[in-house]
Amino acid sequence: MHEQIWGKCLSFIKERIPEQSFNTWFLPIVPVRLEDKVLTIQVPSQFFYEWLEENYVHLLHEAIESEIGVEGRLEYSVVVDRGSEANQPYTVNVSGSASGYNKARVNGYDKYKNPQFIQELASDSNLNPNYQFDNYIEGDCNRLARSAGYAVAKKPGVTSFNPLMIYGGVGLGKTHLIQAIGNEIKRSHPDKYVFYVASEKFTNQFIDALKNNSIQEFIAYYRNVDILMLDDVQFLKDKEKTQEIFFHIFNHLHQNGKQIIMTSDCPPKDLQGLQERLVSRFKWGLTADLQQPDFETRIAIIKKKMQADGIDIPDQVVEYLAYSVDTNIRELEGVIISLIAHASLAKEEVDLELAKSILKNIVTEIDSEVGIDYIQKTVSEYFNVAQEDLKAKTRKKEIVIARQVAMYFSKDYTNHSLKSIGYHFGGRDHSTVIHAVQSVNDMIDTNAKFRYSVDELKKKLKMRTV
Ligand code: ADP
Ligand code: MG
Repeated sequence: MHEQIWGKCLSFIKERIPEQSFNTWFLPIVPVRLEDKVLTIQVPSQFFYEWLEENYVHLLHEAIESEIGVEGRLEYSVVVDRGSEANQPYTVNVSGSASGYNKARVNGYDKYKNPQFIQELASDSNLNPNYQFDNYIEGDCNRLARSAGYAVAKKPGVTSFNPLMIYGGVGLGKTHLIQAIGNEIKRSHPDKYVFYVASEKFTNQFIDALKNNSIQEFIAYYRNVDILMLDDVQFLKDKEKTQEIFFHIFNHLHQNGKQIIMTSDCPPKDLQGLQERLVSRFKWGLTADLQQPDFETRIAIIKKKMQADGIDIPDQVVEYLAYSVDTNIRELEGVIISLIAHASLAKEEVDLELAKSILKNIVTEIDSEVGIDYIQKTVSEYFNVAQEDLKAKTRKKEIVIARQVAMYFSKDYTNHSLKSIGYHFGGRDHSTVIHAVQSVNDMIDTNAKFRYSVDELKKKLKMRTV
């Protein structure tokens, strides 16, 4: 009886949600019994239950109502270990009040922890040992972020800086700072699991877990972390499902006094494409920004870097570099490295003249790198198509789009004529290029996802031009 009813509920549900979601969240459910219009279903884990409640409570409600009637109710029975006896079921009203959420702590949930994952956690925090507080120069540009970070490193999960959110533009030291916090915690609290992950990687892991039906492990893995560091959360923009799962993990960790540290390229309020409720969580703790370093800080950073590499550069040159490169620290480091490389190759002293000529060279070298070839390479990589196809005859949709985007950037970022651009794309004529530029502009106006891709690509290409 209960099986038939549940079967009907499934058909009801199946018509209303995407197949992938249906397979992931409904197929694993086992109907257990039907008594007094209460249908009991067994779900594989606590998380599974929470996910259903958060995302599908209304749908379940409708399904129960249509198959059992308005008095129909639903009970969950949560399995802790597959194959072992089910726990005592607890009743949850399908009207979906949030209260059931907290009640639903199951004894022994920790058993779900997978030893293999734990091991991975312990052995690999994804931290780069070069990123330390010692070599993180303090300046007006980073004082608040640095000292908050230091406080968190000393007392993870205990200060009110939870979550700690560091934001700032590219190359200003976000990754360095949070990794320094991680390294420091590992030193002072060796018993804690510190885990660093870039948001992009987190997203990919989640997608893999969905594909491989290992969501449970994915969740268990992250719920066991003591200090979670998520780098570049702006990457979660428009990734609804990933945000959803992070929201769950975030809540769980936060409620259990675990420390969360995040970075972003903009302040939380400007994080567009992120759910309101997630952004409001980000504001619970402390938000600290990193600014462009001022002249003195740039000098201190250059000197520190030279000291670490055991090299000596006259003060005059240091000042010249600090003066000329004022965009970000990554770039400053790049220039120092080139300077030293040139000097040692040419067996010359590093002096002002050399610095000047190198800086000039670097700028032109970089400029000439953003040629059509580089654009084609970047764009085809981004869209995951072969660069050769951009020049070939094929009219496959994804290739046409990639080709048009590459033409669009070639027009914007190089000095090539329309004719020359066409030539570089398999000998097409200039009207094709004009058409490409127009369609890209149209799509930018009408398709938010596409606009996002173009913006991402712009960022990638710009990193080469500045
Ligand atoms: P972001 O993550 O903000 O893009 P990174 O943390 O990758 O920036 O920093 C870029 C480079 O600049 C790294 O090599 C880092 O070590 C260096 N850096 C950034 N801030 C500082 C600082 N305050 N002192 C010393 N080096 C810094
Ligand atoms: Mg970074």
